Amino acid sequence: NRLSIADPIRTNDIMRKYKLRAKKSLGQNFLTNEKVLDDIVDASGLKSDEIAIEIGPGIGALTEKLAQVAEKVFAFEIDDNLIPVLADTLQYYDNIEVINQDILKVDLDEFVKEHGLEGKTIKVVANLPYYITTPIMLNLINSDYPFQSLVLMMQKEVAQRITAKPGHREYGSLTIAVQTQMNARIDRIVGSSSFIPRPKVDSAVAVLDRLPKEQVDIEDPKFFNQVVRSAFMQKRKSLMNNLLNLLGRTDENRAKIKNVFENCDIAENARAEQVSIEQFKKMALEFAKN
Ligand code: SAM
Repeated sequence: NRLSIADPIRTNDIMRKYKLRAKKSLGQNFLTNEKVLDDIVDASGLKSDEIAIEIGPGIGALTEKLAQVAEKVFAFEIDDNLIPVLADTLQYYDNIEVINQDILKVDLDEFVKEHGLEGKTIKVVANLPYYITTPIMLNLINSDYPFQSLVLMMQKEVAQRITAKPGHREYGSLTIAVQTQMNARIDRIVGSSSFIPRPKVDSAVAVLDRLPKEQVDIEDPKFFNQVVRSAFMQKRKSLMNNLLNLLGRTDENRAKIKNVFENCDIAENARAEQVSIEQFKKMALEFAKN
């Protein structure tokens, strides 16, 4: 009849027992709203033969919920001080392995091989440290191991950017980096009162499901990314202007871009935020051809 770790009474007890002070520098905001945790686990759809990877278990609130549904949970925590705490709070579960490492320094492909997890359905579920949301997310998306889905709590604004549609202010290079590989949606918004301590911003649970292979058809990802990054370099300027910066400001290049725009159905004065991902893909192909 133990209280869940996420219960505010238990969280406060644990913090008192270990004299824990949440470290701002590590993005430590502990979830104390069980409904939110249950929604996160539901959104992951984790099954008893699937593996969960968690980033930043904190004091274990989400970890224990994941352990209740998944075959096994691997949780990466950078903070040495939390390791003995987790050994205590998670002692009732035999399917959790806490790894004291900086997730940005872990070679996840190696990790999957070393643990004999190839071929397994592996889902990443995390209440992320917000200061490194983007690098963590992009590493997971671009890793060689195709993590089936990522359920990630992040700052609301970042969730809005990765789920944005063309024509919206939030649509940008991050949107495209994510949506070329994943189907992204917001599962729910989470207010700051669901955490101890409260973060200064609202949060959202984003669900990213990997697109089928046929849909991830970028021939030269490096060049594609270069085109996308240049396109959004100066958001107020036209796409033409930004691309001239990439290719060189000559009459010849201007004519070439015009021609490519025509073939891709892009208006001459268009701005990058109006261009769909399909159009970006076609544009990169056309530039590469010429
Ligand atoms: N999962 C817990 C929860 O939901 O209550 C804690 C989430 S808290 C927002 C983020 C966690 O990530 C903290 O425990 C923090 O120490 C950890 N963390 C921060 N940077 C990290 C990194 N580079 N690698 C692994 N964990 C990190």
